Amino acid sequence: MAVYIGSEIYRRSAFGHNHPLSYARQESVLDMCRILGWLDDRNFIISPTADQSTLTRFHDADYVEALKSADALGSVSVDVRKRYNFGTMENPLFKGVFARAATTIGGSIEAAKQALAGETAFHPSGGTHHGLKDRAHGFCYFNDPVYAILTLLDAGLERILYVDIDAHHGDGVEAAFLDDKRVTTLSVHEENRWPYSGKMENNTPGCINLPVPQGLNDSEFLYINNNLIRPTCESVKPQAIVVTCGADALEADPLSKMALSNGALWQSVLDMQQQTPHLVVLGGGGYNPWTTVRTWVGLWGLLGGNRLPEILPEAAQAILARFDSDLIDEEDRLPEWTTKLEDKKATGKIRGEIKQRINVILKT
Ligand SMILES: [Zn+2]
Repeated sequence: MAVYIGSEIYRRSAFGHNHPLSYARQESVLDMCRILGWLDDRNFIISPTADQSTLTRFHDADYVEALKSADALGSVSVDVRKRYNFGTMENPLFKGVFARAATTIGGSIEAAKQALAGETAFHPSGGTHHGLKDRAHGFCYFNDPVYAILTLLDAGLERILYVDIDAHHGDGVEAAFLDDKRVTTLSVHEENRWPYSGKMENNTPGCINLPVPQGLNDSEFLYINNNLIRPTCESVKPQAIVVTCGADALEADPLSKMALSNGALWQSVLDMQQQTPHLVVLGGGGYNPWTTVRTWVGLWGLLGGNRLPEILPEAAQAILARFDSDLIDEEDRLPEWTTKLEDKKATGKIRGEIKQRINVILKT
């Protein structure tokens, strides 16, 4: 079975105005899943909030304290801003930021516990993969994938695979487990894109990075899935997989230049569901409100074994129709973004450089 971990805390406004994450993301995914009849008391779990001692297990105590008191005070000094990188345009200080970030950690811990119990655990507000132990980074205050993995390690698992198919390098998670042989990290991300890490020359058998060129299409992603992700699963034989399934690798995401359809991401995650009895599925980036929300709603439907509707019910369409975005011109918005879940396939030529890079990785 599959369980969904969510919280009403995400309905509170966050990130202020003029931030790529200031749209109603989590609540829209949740509400659409309910409208589609895919959530009930049996498969929905309210996310716990991590307490201070849990947060300081990975994050430095002074950083956790600084974020907590800045939130309570409603302001941040120049020194604190510089040291911890919040209260900035990138990682704004907003009312409730601490509880929100701590809930995301609690949710990923719960997701890992559910996965250990044999459920596929879906935690779409997770995926804060850039979070560092001592500062905020890339819209992430804490790092919840790290906590999902730590929870699996606590249970005695010795082979964990972390897969990151967000458009950006999963730098925070990679750094956290670089020296832990029990955890293999695999990140597929757009080359020459922020945070500019995750280059192939740093690869080791336990730390795999595949930077891909702009315009990555479904055929290329399927090739990566079949020739890198799946073989890595077969060689690692993971007892559990944690996947950060950001939706910013999709065509028309304003912060990256990849060109996938949502079906490509779905296929890859469903493949992982076949590869392990213990799967944690997290969200991640996604800055086009329409494509991001549709991707995660559809993903939850499929993980739960549901058939996706051809046309969305009116109430679900209404949620998508309410979105707006300063980052996407009106003429670039496709009509199907408000009526359907599934994108048109984005098939294309598989570029030689992708095959070449995978060959290099497989020889590492
Ligand atoms: Zn991203």
